[in-house]
Amino acid sequence: MSIPRPDLPADARLETLAVRDGLPASRWGENSEAVYLTSCFVHPDAETAARRFANEEDAFVYSRFSNPNVTIMERRLAALEGMPACIGTGSGMGAILLLFMALLKAGDHVICSQSVFGSTVKLLQSEFGKFGVESSFVSQTDVAQWKTAVKPNTKLLFAETPTNPLTEVCDIQALADVAHEAGALLVVDNCMCSPALQQPVKFGADIVMHSGTKFLDGQGRVNAGALCASQEMVDNKFVPIMRSAGMSLSPFNAWIVAKGMETLSVRLHAQSAATLELARWLEAHPAVERVYYPGLPSHPQHELAMRQQSGIGGAVLAFNVRGGREQAFGVIDGTRICSIAANFGDVRTIITHPSSTSHGRLTEAQRQAAGIVQGMIRLGVGLENLDDLKADLARGLDKIAS
Ligand SMILES: *Cc1c(COP(=O)(O)O)cnc(C)c1O
Repeated sequence: MSIPRPDLPADARLETLAVRDGLPASRWGENSEAVYLTSCFVHPDAETAARRFANEEDAFVYSRFSNPNVTIMERRLAALEGMPACIGTGSGMGAILLLFMALLKAGDHVICSQSVFGSTVKLLQSEFGKFGVESSFVSQTDVAQWKTAVKPNTKLLFAETPTNPLTEVCDIQALADVAHEAGALLVVDNCMCSPALQQPVKFGADIVMHSGTKFLDGQGRVNAGALCASQEMVDNKFVPIMRSAGMSLSPFNAWIVAKGMETLSVRLHAQSAATLELARWLEAHPAVERVYYPGLPSHPQHELAMRQQSGIGGAVLAFNVRGGREQAFGVIDGTRICSIAANFGDVRTIITHPSSTSHGRLTEAQRQAAGIVQGMIRLGVGLENLDDLKADLARGLDKIAS
């Protein structure tokens, strides 16, 4: 027996799968998925229990590694990414921990973009470095650097595109080619675009990583994460680690994320359209020095981004105001609608000063080298009225310009 799926047409498209894929309704016929808050599952007899524990029969056993809400979330995300299988985790970082634990051992080497999420760098360099995993950090955009960094023991290439806050875009297909030539795997962190805009598997990625905390939930409620990969890799590499290490996704959080994915495509398209409009408006504002947004023709990788991201720039942008920290703080503190926080992927617009928050642990020299200046502001654009958002930002910007 394998766990049944809803009866959907084989050619059902992304928006349909996002709403309908998962598990069939229970015997009670609920239309919205039930929440299965149970730590374990009951078996009809001891023989069946033994078969299920030995993996000879598919069934839910124990929520550290199997639960209906987690399965619904995993099936929905795999369908959206166009990948065969998925495993849910308690957070995005939990997904990366599971990935590294499952695929690396002492003596292995990883090549990683130097512009990925800060905790990813820390986990790889400090924690896995301690266990004898070697890592090289290379340019987000220069494929030659990735090629040069390849060693005989290179097992993984890890990329994130676009990056945060500078929205630098890497060429997924080119990196997949480098990985495969080296006999390694390419992992793509797809948090910033989500599968509504970008499916890395189409460009050769082997594994796609998610923080469900961002656009998948989309309403800033829970922490969650996931890895999408082949069925063989999920079953034989990831599930055994999950069983023993337990970086599990809670059933309730899985339910939230699965419900969030139902509106993913609509939200991403609406939030991205608003972001493009804001990016154009900011680019024309006299108080703004520079705007970072892949949807603008002025973005250095605009064409590549449009090819990889379904012609859409996404819902995160950054901009530099004229002046420095004082001027940036003036704009941030002038807002009444935006949330001053360090997150994105929420229906509420979030405004961030990267140099003093998300990138506050770097030295000023490291920040300067990375282009994260004191006058930089990041916006995770939500679903508020666009004119209200412009007015919210104009309050501080107009003061700088006058
Ligand atoms: C937030 C984030 C993560 C980590 O996810 P958590 O759910 O916060 O653990 C990883 N990568 C990117 C790009 C992120 O934005």
